[in-house]
Amino acid sequence: MKIIYVKLSDCSGCMINFLPLLEKLNLEIVYFPNVVDDGEIREADVAIINGAVAKESEEHMGILKRVREASKWVAAIGSCSSVGGITRYLRGGQNPTPSHITFLPVGDVIEVDFAIPGCPASTDIMEKFLKALEEGNEKYLTPFRNLAKKRKAGGLDLQDEIVSAGLCSGCGMCALSCPVGAIEIVKGRPEVRMEKCIRCGTCYFRCPRMFIRLRKPDAEVA
Ligand code: SF4
Ligand code: SF4
Repeated sequence: MKIIYVKLSDCSGCMINFLPLLEKLNLEIVYFPNVVDDGEIREADVAIINGAVAKESEEHMGILKRVREASKWVAAIGSCSSVGGITRYLRGGQNPTPSHITFLPVGDVIEVDFAIPGCPASTDIMEKFLKALEEGNEKYLTPFRNLAKKRKAGGLDLQDEIVSAGLCSGCGMCALSCPVGAIEIVKGRPEVRMEKCIRCGTCYFRCPRMFIRLRKPDAEVA
């Protein structure tokens, strides 16, 4: 399978988890500037993108446009790429410091076919996703397709789609992953302090139960 890998603005966790797959799977690298010193973006089966897009960066915008044209499928990996993640902290591109950068999910700039959960996405789920893509396993790919429709996520999405839907197991991953400490586990369930939430989507992307409802082909995501 021919792959393009693009790392935009993030902590590098998704890329570090992806690297073991270069040895494990039969992947042909077309473009992966962090690994191969070759600036050409050529045709590929799938482009894997991690990190959020710096809106003011011509480099980011140019790469994404070329990647979309060259790739049959585009997959956003992890919360930064899919819904903004920790880059939601930033409120740039406005006075009094207009030079600050504003970040967007990849799906705000180009069409994204799949989103892979996790913050960071695990090696295991990326491996399973790539195998399903190669085999054309649409049943397995459905949640990834459905998740790609979601370009914003916050603590209330977790509340609505997981807790209120009766899917929460009380594992506490959401509270552990929240960068601003907006979630507290009370009586085995997360309680979100909305006045603190920066709508980064990390809790949603880390929740292991989130995939359950996304398995339906017609799953509604907003
Ligand atoms: S509750 Fe925390 S982790 Fe969830 S979206 Fe808000 S800030 Fe992000
Ligand atoms: S991560 Fe999901 S399952 Fe775990 S406590 Fe939070 S909402 Fe519940």
